[in-house]
Amino acid sequence: MMSHNEVLPGIIRVRGRAGPAGEAESAYVVLGEESVAIIDSGNPRSRDFHYKILRAVEDTPDYSLKDVKYLLITHEHWDHIGGLSFLKKQLKNAQLLVHEKAQETVENPRAMMQTKHFEVGRRKRLSLSVYDDPFRKLEKVKVDGVLGDDDKIDLGNTKLFIIHTGGHCAGHIFYLSSAQRALFVGDEVIYYPGDYNHYFIDLTGSASAREKALEFTLKLRMEALCPTHDEAFLGREAYATVRNALEAHKRREETILDVLSFKEETTLEEIGAEADALLGVSWAEPLQTFLDHTTTLAHLIKLEKEGKVSKIEKEKTPPKWFLTP
Ligand SMILES: [Zn+2]
Repeated sequence: MMSHNEVLPGIIRVRGRAGPAGEAESAYVVLGEESVAIIDSGNPRSRDFHYKILRAVEDTPDYSLKDVKYLLITHEHWDHIGGLSFLKKQLKNAQLLVHEKAQETVENPRAMMQTKHFEVGRRKRLSLSVYDDPFRKLEKVKVDGVLGDDDKIDLGNTKLFIIHTGGHCAGHIFYLSSAQRALFVGDEVIYYPGDYNHYFIDLTGSASAREKALEFTLKLRMEALCPTHDEAFLGREAYATVRNALEAHKRREETILDVLSFKEETTLEEIGAEADALLGVSWAEPLQTFLDHTTTLAHLIKLEKEGKVSKIEKEKTPPKWFLTP
């Protein structure tokens, strides 16, 4: 079976192994008249997948590895940056460009992933080591340039427009290819294929930014929606996918408010556990260990800003949340 396929003319999806819920490891190759860009690079330990990305370029008539000028990521998570260091060594003409908010993590991934994006202390590190620790083997890699919110990357006949979203994590961006109208959405829309409740927001992300990004996407003219962990969606299906994601986003928020309406003062852990149970969310390990309740926390922060919930903080105990009277 071919490990890559053409989504639209000039856009190739490269597939790696699938995770426990069918979430694929994947990357996209965008072929422009003058240069080629690679978007995302998989997990650090998937060397076979990193080779597949290179092969996808080589298998394309008229293109070679020399034409790859841009190495890009949708965001700074382990399963998107894992191949960067290897690919950079193989692709001598490629510049690694990341959003300015992603740079720190890309350049020092292991430390930043465990402290800035998630709270992986000693206890969790121990439980992760039982599984396949996803952060292990993440290598430091030097960024060649940073992308701002309104930058674009010119590939010749097509340009990639940068749209900063910052919901799933702080440095998350979309790329919109001008010729094909394909939108590369990373993990902002969907994570487990066909399952809209399993999205997540890390400690650097924002629930209101994710909501805005999804609403913005519905107004955009697009021919294809290209998520990293699922197949690309074409035409009307692209919009239906975003609408489903937006509904699930609002459903979690309503569920959190429902949970709070039955309690007086409650910790994040209790709210998150109850909301997850009501929504049927349980992550396959090792995700469950370090995702914790960061998504619920992101929604609580949004609801707090909107004045709908409040929290009390006492020394040495976790804060307690309640519905603003
Ligand atoms: Zn991610």
